[in-house]
Amino acid sequence: MSEFSIKDLGVKVGLEIHQQLATNKKLFCNCTPVEIEEYSIQFKRKLRAAKSELGEYDPAALFEKSKSKSILYFANPESSCLVDQDEEPPHELDIDAKKISLIIASALKSKIFSEVYPMRKTVVDGSNTTGFQRTMLISQGGHFEVEGEKIGIQSICLEEDAAKILGDEGSVRKFGLGRLGVPLVEIATEPFEVDPQHIKKIALALGRILRSTKKVKRGLGSIRQDVNVSIKEGGVVIEVKGVQQLDQLEKVVEYEAKRQHGLLKISKKLQEIKWNHDEHNDRRVTTEQFKKCESKIIQNAIKKKQEIVTILFKNMGGMFGYSPYEGIRLGKEVAELVRFFGLGGVFHSDELPNYGIEEKDIENLKEFLKITDNDAFLILAVPFKMMDTIVDQIIKRIDHIKNNGIPVDTRLATQNGETKFLRPRPGAARMYPETDIPPIIFSTNELLEAQENIPKSWDESIKELQSKYEINSQLADQIFDSKYIELFENIVKKTNVSPTFVASVLCSTITNLERNGLNSTLLRNEEIRKTFELLENEKIAKESIEIIFENIMAGKSNSVEEAMRKTSIETVNEADLETIIQEIVNKNEQLVKNQRERSIGPLMGIAMKELRGKASGEIINQLLLKNIQKKL
Ligand SMILES: [Zn+2]
Repeated sequence: MSEFSIKDLGVKVGLEIHQQLATNKKLFCNCTPVEIEEYSIQFKRKLRAAKSELGEYDPAALFEKSKSKSILYFANPESSCLVDQDEEPPHELDIDAKKISLIIASALKSKIFSEVYPMRKTVVDGSNTTGFQRTMLISQGGHFEVEGEKIGIQSICLEEDAAKILGDEGSVRKFGLGRLGVPLVEIATEPFEVDPQHIKKIALALGRILRSTKKVKRGLGSIRQDVNVSIKEGGVVIEVKGVQQLDQLEKVVEYEAKRQHGLLKISKKLQEIKWNHDEHNDRRVTTEQFKKCESKIIQNAIKKKQEIVTILFKNMGGMFGYSPYEGIRLGKEVAELVRFFGLGGVFHSDELPNYGIEEKDIENLKEFLKITDNDAFLILAVPFKMMDTIVDQIIKRIDHIKNNGIPVDTRLATQNGETKFLRPRPGAARMYPETDIPPIIFSTNELLEAQENIPKSWDESIKELQSKYEINSQLADQIFDSKYIELFENIVKKTNVSPTFVASVLCSTITNLERNGLNSTLLRNEEIRKTFELLENEKIAKESIEIIFENIMAGKSNSVEEAMRKTSIETVNEADLETIIQEIVNKNEQLVKNQRERSIGPLMGIAMKELRGKASGEIINQLLLKNIQKKL
């Protein structure tokens, strides 16, 4: 095994950012783009891979179909309609989505087309009820700068988001329709050569340009990045989907570069040992030979009426376990492919005996197959009707690695920063014209308006916020990067509450409640605004805000008024407050005499318990001090 070094590999990276836009409607219908996890509608579809209108089968579609799943959709009437269910043609393009995408394209100095043709992109995993995603290429070219370095833009598309996967159950896959059709822009950069450590900075800069428009969604799932990785020697670009956090980017790129270089080493070795696929003797049903094997996995498979299939590889002894770099093996590549078909995994000869398969089982098998230690084999448990499809795919992949090097697939980023096989890369047949929507024209006025709305740079915006509201740079950064920036400006404009206090409630208080597992989407902007108005009119104390938000974010109340009733928040008038404080001081006379002014500490605790949320801590403190001094 060699030590892996990424230098000199010529790693090139391209970023593909998918950013949801903050609109009031979906891209082609009037539904509200919210994700509500209450589903009163349910329907089932079976997706078929159809020939696209160009007359070609999409290989990704066929591959996905071979897994034969039925799809169960869950919908909520507020966030989905007949368009989302593919029972009604799409409506007109949402005007806000159009405007925002033009601003983003202008900000990135991308060349906008005057006329745009909506296209259908084949989608076969069930994440779209129609079997395709609508997409519009709105501009090409452009760039942005990161620390003086120019990063090129390849293209910007405006498109529909896909439905959200809720889970797989046997041969049924479940999706929620809330997210389907939500407008998003897809921005693809030109490939750039980069040290993996710097990728995060570049992705962050691009994300900030988008958020500077204040017209994109925030929060988990509102931005997703895919990353394309290639190495100089490899000759192919591998698309890795689903990088959830920017911190993952560096690891994912490093792993993928390592995997690609490792596969080239495996390829070379396969050529050296002269392995050739023997199509007449490559697979045998060996269920009978494993009848007495004590492996639980094998016995469970036989119970489920699966066949135990052995695939033969002449002269390939040692190849499945050969590990050019740590964690990179042919055996792993095969295992990922097999899991894609819903099988648990595969045993290869280099890792046996193990998993309950014993030496004697292997000897029996070898004798039956007439093979030697020089040869290799894979053992699979598989339903008989799937056997040939899966075995063919495995052999095709190994054959490809030997003759052509790195297989061109679409991969998925894993939590621990690796990548795994997702599906074969779709062919060119994936796009065809959308005939239900007329071409979209961008007028000169619309283009001018977009130019005028190009946002200031991130740093400029922060400086401006700082001086306008006299808040510190950290808070300015936080509030600008949050989903509450517009609400913040609105509240500060309409009330006299201090901007620093408003910003810290919107950033820290709500974030802290979220960290405790509460849901900030339940707290609508309207309710937040009302809360600050109540504070301004001295109807509630500062301390009540957290109590009110906590109640709403826990789903116990819908409105501020309801939350106030449920948490019995009421303001105490000054006279009553004075009486309550006097009583507290009287009751604790001894304490006051013993500890003198220092008794304010324990008395404050007692008073806050009684008055939390009913009067401000500051006033309580003042009144306590006044009454303590009177006593002395
Ligand atoms: Zn709809």
